[in-house]
Amino acid sequence: MRVTFVGVGEAFDETLPNTSLFVEGRGPARRTSVLLDCGFTAAAAFFACPGVAASDREAGPDAVWISHFHGDHYFGLPYLLARLHESGRTRPLAVCGGPGTEAKYGAVLDMAYPNLRAKLRFAVETTSVSPGEGFSLAGFPALAALTGHGAPCLALRLCVSEKALYYGGDGAPTVDCRELARGCDVLIQEAYGIRAGVPGHGSVEEAIAFAREAGAAALAVVHVRRELRRERGEEIRRMLRDCGLAAAALPEPGAVIAA
Ligand SMILES: [Zn+2]
Ligand SMILES: [Zn+2]
Repeated sequence: MRVTFVGVGEAFDETLPNTSLFVEGRGPARRTSVLLDCGFTAAAAFFACPGVAASDREAGPDAVWISHFHGDHYFGLPYLLARLHESGRTRPLAVCGGPGTEAKYGAVLDMAYPNLRAKLRFAVETTSVSPGEGFSLAGFPALAALTGHGAPCLALRLCVSEKALYYGGDGAPTVDCRELARGCDVLIQEAYGIRAGVPGHGSVEEAIAFAREAGAAALAVVHVRRELRRERGEEIRRMLRDCGLAAAALPEPGAVIAA
């Protein structure tokens, strides 16, 4: 499994693209890829990301996972789809998320480009999943759980090439998230704050405790509030360095984890 941090930013960070991850691995039949979240600024970052092979940027992912329907997690879909359409894609694209994915996908695409949906050269297969029900994402076994966020948000556990990835989307981890993350190899958690108690969001402190409890081999903290990342980045890096986990990082865009 290879995870590339296309973006690591929160919603309105003018310097860091919205949090988005490109995950690649061996699927049942061939090598496949999934883009986890595609916000306002993530699609442009995907096409410019040095950590993603030029051929993958040209071809696009096999599937897109939308953790929840906030603009910094799915308003990049029209950009992604229109650009793949322009570059001649014919391979179907799966778009998967929580309940209402089909309607949200249709609404955002029709608002951005009213005639594009009918003209797309490739099929878009939308799927809505429910927490606790197993499903397949680009051929990879997956399971989701609700996080503690202002909008319904699904954390994802994805099994890729015998490794497990946990991506929390937005929100503090819930009891169900703790169950979902147990024993994962890579745990990616948003930390809008540094200390616990941020309404509807996680924190660096909670992310560390969560990853330790889960027994995760590696932790990456993303979606840090822009002022905190800028002004207290060193403190966050020190917390991660001293937390006792084998690998804990505040990644920059383009960083890669191979598990
Ligand atoms: Zn967000
Ligand atoms: Zn959100």
